[in-house]
Amino acid sequence: MTQKLTEETVMTTTSSCESCGMPIESGRYCDYCTDDSGALQSFDDRFARMVAWQARRDPAASKQDIERQTLDYMATMPAWRDHPRVLAR
Ligand SMILES: [Zn+2]
Repeated sequence: MTQKLTEETVMTTTSSCESCGMPIESGRYCDYCTDDSGALQSFDDRFARMVAWQARRDPAASKQDIERQTLDYMATMPAWRDHPRVLAR
């Protein structure tokens, strides 16, 4: 008996959040990057969260370094790469 490739198998390709890069099953953004209505949060909200996250990963780095690394990372994200704050870094 040969195994058939079901449609479900084909549909389960993983994508990643266009704001933070986290793997998600569907849609464009993960739960962390959206508000209650499902809309993408503001740049300032996401930037503050990502700076805090980066600071925990690299406690020895200066605030300047952390913010720079965060902007560099956001420059790789489709949701933010054209944002003025990212372009001006
Ligand atoms: Zn996200």
